[in-house]
Amino acid sequence: MRFLPVFLDLKAGPVVVIGAGELLRAKLRVLAAAGARVRVHAIDGNQDFGLGSEDTARVETASVDPLTADLSGVIAIVCAGAGDVGVAMSVRAKALGLPVNVMDDLEHSSFIFPAIVDRGDVVVAVGTGGASPVVARRVREMIEALLPARIGELAEFIGTFRKSINERIAEFPLRRRFWERVIDGPIGAAVLAGRKNEADASLKAISDPSEFARADKPEGSVALVGAGPGDPDLLTIKALRALQNADIVFHDELVSPEILDRIRRDTTRVAVGRRVGKPGIGQDAINKRMIEAAQSGQRVVRLKGGDPFVFGRGGEEVEALRAAGVAYSIIPGITAGLGGAADFEVPLTYRHEANRITFLTAHKARDAENVDWSTLTDTKMTVVVYMGRTAAPAIREGLFAAGRSPETPVGVFARVTRPDAQGAIGTLRDLPELVRRIHGGPAILIIGDVVRHAGSLRRPTPEQIISDLLDAAE
Ligand code: SAH
Repeated sequence: MRFLPVFLDLKAGPVVVIGAGELLRAKLRVLAAAGARVRVHAIDGNQDFGLGSEDTARVETASVDPLTADLSGVIAIVCAGAGDVGVAMSVRAKALGLPVNVMDDLEHSSFIFPAIVDRGDVVVAVGTGGASPVVARRVREMIEALLPARIGELAEFIGTFRKSINERIAEFPLRRRFWERVIDGPIGAAVLAGRKNEADASLKAISDPSEFARADKPEGSVALVGAGPGDPDLLTIKALRALQNADIVFHDELVSPEILDRIRRDTTRVAVGRRVGKPGIGQDAINKRMIEAAQSGQRVVRLKGGDPFVFGRGGEEVEALRAAGVAYSIIPGITAGLGGAADFEVPLTYRHEANRITFLTAHKARDAENVDWSTLTDTKMTVVVYMGRTAAPAIREGLFAAGRSPETPVGVFARVTRPDAQGAIGTLRDLPELVRRIHGGPAILIIGDVVRHAGSLRRPTPEQIISDLLDAAE
């Protein structure tokens, strides 16, 4: 590490900025947004910095030569688009012991600007030692995605109580435990959910903070999380955060390895789901283990393919959690039907062609026989069938009986949103044959006129995508 990240107190004095053009304006925007007082030497004489009126109030323009200007009280010097003046200024600043940054010139800089995540009191600085600002920005985006939106409010909230709690808990380690329990428990969750008043009241209700900190059992909870159909980038930001915070994850077999890779490394993982031919541990056992883990103080994630409330037994699990009095939350996911529609470009509704969608499950032929097909006669209804592979012949017969035409377009889409996704498109008449063309893995069927709009089934390989990108870049 050549550059140590430190935080500069902008209240201590003005920052002198020297330069011209868009580079100068960009730096002024960063400094003004941070609340810095700025003294600008515009070396091309153009004093239009494009700032809002509030920021302009903190910016003073200097007409003297920066190389001879009085620098007393100045806290840092920034050169952006300053050419040779930047180099000369760097020599002067270094002689005076002032921190100096010359944009894109490590040799003449004694400090550099990080990429910044700004959440009020919480600020994250990302640097690459000047090697690649683009990489720093990508890292910043990842951190932005992981940080709860209200993390700054949480810091501010704690800041307001810190003094009074410090006076009431003398020992430092106990004090730290106190704040950890507040942040990780329902009070922290309430602040992050925007319920500050509730958090405020709960914290004030703690009569003996030392006792609260000493309680050995933290409060556990369960998050029912939808993992989406397979592509890890389709996880919601909330789902990703839950995976990063979990002590233990109970996951379905259907959840893709790429998604399991996003779980924190030291988190316990337990595969509990059923898959064809393997019974799994059973729903009652899953409920029991989840509840026990939460009651022992763990942060539990129950990770399910697609969405927890679409053919995912999420309802039963929530009822069990409610009955046990365990705190829980539900994080929705992209269900396979929506993932498949997007992946193969099948619009599920379409003006004049489809104004209704039915999500249906038909696990076995026997289940399919129990479906009331007469509700599916509407030709303007798109039917999305889950778990429909083995029952394909029965589904065809049922829809025929309901009066759907054998020419109704049908798509079978397997392993949607995964790199090995596969689709077969034809008509209702060919449905069993279409299913045979798909090589294993979970599949959905989409039935209805909208399937005619499907995009290409031939998907480029990752190698093709990369070579296309390289071609386009040339
Ligand atoms: N809760 C899940 C559905 C669970 S039922 C969701 O919302 O998606 C399991 C069925 O979902 C499978 O039989 C299959 O029909 C469908 N499915 C799940 N993942 C899939 C995928 N990646 N591609 C195609 N179908 C999928």
